[in-house]
Amino acid sequence: MQMRDEMLRAACFASLDVLCAQFGDDVPYKDGLDRGFPHGGARVPFLSPQKGIFRAAAQTGPAALSINTSSKSPYGDAEVDDGYLYAYRAGSVDQPDNRALRQAFALQVPLVYFVATRPGWYRPLYPSYIAADDPVAQRVLVSPGQLVGPLDERDPEPLENPIERRYAVRETRVRLHQAVFRGRVLRAYSNTCTICRLKEDRLLDAAHIAGDLEAHGEPIVPNGLALCSIHHRAYDQQLVGVSPDYEVHVSKRLLEEEDGPMLELLKGFHAQPIVLPKRAAWKPDRERLAERFERFVAST
Ligand SMILES: [Zn+2]
Repeated sequence: MQMRDEMLRAACFASLDVLCAQFGDDVPYKDGLDRGFPHGGARVPFLSPQKGIFRAAAQTGPAALSINTSSKSPYGDAEVDDGYLYAYRAGSVDQPDNRALRQAFALQVPLVYFVATRPGWYRPLYPSYIAADDPVAQRVLVSPGQLVGPLDERDPEPLENPIERRYAVRETRVRLHQAVFRGRVLRAYSNTCTICRLKEDRLLDAAHIAGDLEAHGEPIVPNGLALCSIHHRAYDQQLVGVSPDYEVHVSKRLLEEEDGPMLELLKGFHAQPIVLPKRAAWKPDRERLAERFERFVAST
């Protein structure tokens, strides 16, 4: 139906599938989302980073195609059990952006909720639906939907079952917080593995020093270390440790093994200092490191 822009929305979701396959869960704006998606022989933008609510000029229907949240307030939109509360654009309830947002509720069309997890990167949550509209509080409730049916012919639909919906919201929230944590830690370390200095965004993780289920396991920069995939795994497996005086320790087990260039590479960082963030407030917390290092020493 023209009012619902079904073909255009389907093209948008299909292109997001491709971008997520290429980049992972978070997609960059530059050289990614800024290319838009093909529809009707033209390219249609996914979103407008300058303003939160976006309706594309190519649409025939009145409802928004996407909404976004800036990296300055990645989950500044209040989280509730059934989704996220998303504020209208400030000013008149009846201005075009707010009309497009409210039409998405009235028509119950699927849209994309782009959450910025770090500057210039977005996690697209799609299909999302506007599940409630509150013109007095000037905000809507954004809830997750699902794509059903065989691949390539998947149809978006809202998650009607409240238990399923709450479960989906919780899952998404955990993953969003992890993404935001990763973004902050990687930025603090200038996208560098603190042990081997590898600078390849796609191979870097944010490792917790104190695990997220432990006391002091908060997802804050001083509880994080930027590590490449190999060093992250080695750190989690107690094959490398970081002492509270910021030195790399390689486990005896690994030091005594002899084979192979990769192993030499791992062993080579033994007794080397780690790379530290420039800002004092971002440096790894010595107490958390000490606690973790004790366990490393005990296991080797
Ligand atoms: Zn590394």
